[in-house]
Amino acid sequence: MVESENIAVVGIPVDENSTFMRGAASAPDHIRKALHCDSSNLCAESGLDLGDDQRWRDVGDLVFDPKQPSFEQVVEGISDLINRNLRILSLGGDHSVTYPIVKAHAKKYPGLTILHLDAHPDLYDDFEGNRFSHASPFARIMEEGLASRLVQVGIRTMNPHQQEQAERFGVEVLSVHDFENIASLKLESPLYLSIDMDVLDPCCAPGVSHHSPGGFMTREVIEIIQSLRCDVIGVDIVEVNPQRDLLGMTAMVAAKLLKETLAKMLEGDASTS
Ligand code: MN
Ligand code: MN
Repeated sequence: MVESENIAVVGIPVDENSTFMRGAASAPDHIRKALHCDSSNLCAESGLDLGDDQRWRDVGDLVFDPKQPSFEQVVEGISDLINRNLRILSLGGDHSVTYPIVKAHAKKYPGLTILHLDAHPDLYDDFEGNRFSHASPFARIMEEGLASRLVQVGIRTMNPHQQEQAERFGVEVLSVHDFENIASLKLESPLYLSIDMDVLDPCCAPGVSHHSPGGFMTREVIEIIQSLRCDVIGVDIVEVNPQRDLLGMTAMVAAKLLKETLAKMLEGDASTS
């Protein structure tokens, strides 16, 4: 049973830990613009009208003091929202933000399970000397015991170092070949869902910093979200890079996933009340 009544959508405009190119910091407003575009409505596929639902609200972006470390400010900002009994759906930013976001969640939800959708395992001990790189958040999360279980789906860039890390931390890695096995995963509540947009094939989501061909279609990611049968207590949608987007299509796919994850969180309420 999820205690929190309401959901806060919050932007986290941080991309200083990106390794290849920056740009993800400007994603939240592009995703909002796509969400409210007159070309579509705010209904999820279930028929739930998010435009007429008072249980969620967009609280804007976290505001950062440039003189202070951004990670600590993410932990504080997300913790403040959680302490107001809100569940969080955050819009990155690059994937480095997931570590401080999960750190804030772990205080309220000890022993949470993470479902991580990504082309990349993001398990580097450090990347080019940066332990807080967007290639390392799940190494930090597992080192600190912030999650009891990490399940990765869509992975197609595993290398020997990250394979070692996955074994060290007991990460369950489902490669892009394992789509059929996702349905049989038994995921426990409370569940945190982290969606790196490059889990999608670049033909569906070209506006990401690291194109990784051979990924999931949009339909497949939607089905993963819709098939979840546990309490989703937090979500992040990260790595949209508007500088690489084509016709705003990646922002539109992110907005679609936002709608479906919001509906999943809200309808989870309905099914357990
Ligand atoms: Mn990632
Ligand atoms: Mn990735």
